[in-house]
Amino acid sequence: MDKPTPESVSPDASLTADESFTATSSAGLTYPWGDFAPGPGKLHRIADGISWARIPMPGSLGHINSWLLDDHQGFAVVDSGMLLRECSDAWKALFAGDLAETPITRVFGTHLHPDHIGLAGWLCKKFDTDLWMSRGEWLTARMLIADVRDEAPLAYHQMQRGAGWDADTVAEMAGKGWGRFAQMVFEMPVSYRRIAEGDVLDMGAHQWRVVVGSGHSPEHACLLNETTGVLVSGDQVLPRISSNVSVNLSEPESDPLGDWLTSIDRLLHLPADLLVCPAHGEPFYGLHPRLIALRDEHHRRLDQVHAELKVRPLRAVDCFPLLFNRPIGGHNRDLATGEAIAHLHRLRADGRARRDTVDGVHWYHAA
Ligand SMILES: [Zn+2]
Repeated sequence: MDKPTPESVSPDASLTADESFTATSSAGLTYPWGDFAPGPGKLHRIADGISWARIPMPGSLGHINSWLLDDHQGFAVVDSGMLLRECSDAWKALFAGDLAETPITRVFGTHLHPDHIGLAGWLCKKFDTDLWMSRGEWLTARMLIADVRDEAPLAYHQMQRGAGWDADTVAEMAGKGWGRFAQMVFEMPVSYRRIAEGDVLDMGAHQWRVVVGSGHSPEHACLLNETTGVLVSGDQVLPRISSNVSVNLSEPESDPLGDWLTSIDRLLHLPADLLVCPAHGEPFYGLHPRLIALRDEHHRRLDQVHAELKVRPLRAVDCFPLLFNRPIGGHNRDLATGEAIAHLHRLRADGRARRDTVDGVHWYHAA
């Protein structure tokens, strides 16, 4: 198969795992730049050692922020946009604009989702530089890119059937093809530079500490500058939308919502007054109120599902109205199903639910 390029990928293939289905409170947050965002070709300095570029994207997200950290003799890029012409054109505008004089020294991927690493390999190749990721993100990305096949595996059918979808819907979901991840990510370098929890990266005048979270993705890296009080948060902390937390086919019995809630508790040990630079939305103050809102909203929804389980048994698909604030169908079925299973698995893990399987369909009961 030909390697995909930014020109070869059509925007309708550009589904990401970063869509949100759940309303959460943003009370207590302040946005120093309001709803301003840097325009095409422009970098905006937001603190000592960090500049902001905005990369437009199709779909409900509309953009990803790329954070450029001062490094020895250039900028380190954190997150790069998808493998789409719209995103590579935004980078070309930067190379002709505010990045005309400054080379890229390294490329970070906070996590494996295609809107974050879709153009990472493209940037690494262009600047002959390394890709820096956590091992969990790197290996999972490489695994997904390598998994290209003509038809969805049987285990996918079984997982969707288990969630409660009927055979026709499962066939429709599987009919979208398999291996689309590889089509959304530019060829990755064969080697990478590993970052891990607690690493302190020397970037010239600044040091950035790696802070790892989990649940939205396996080993999501945030970068913290303790001197300037800046946290590059990727999708681990977003100001306006809740990050998708899904059970995936590669780990169908996992408890990612448990990982997510544990990560929130750990992040609450970071200073409350950090400037948070998220992958989607605007930079903000209010890390702690936001983490608490995200945590409390998940607990509220867990309680709602648990209350309903006391009334009747539920499949994952029965949980949608209890969990989500918008209709589920078509392109968002996979993500919504994964997130509903994540809530049911959390209830099982904390002893509030048990599961029976009847004709391949998983029914959850109050325990
Ligand atoms: Zn993501």
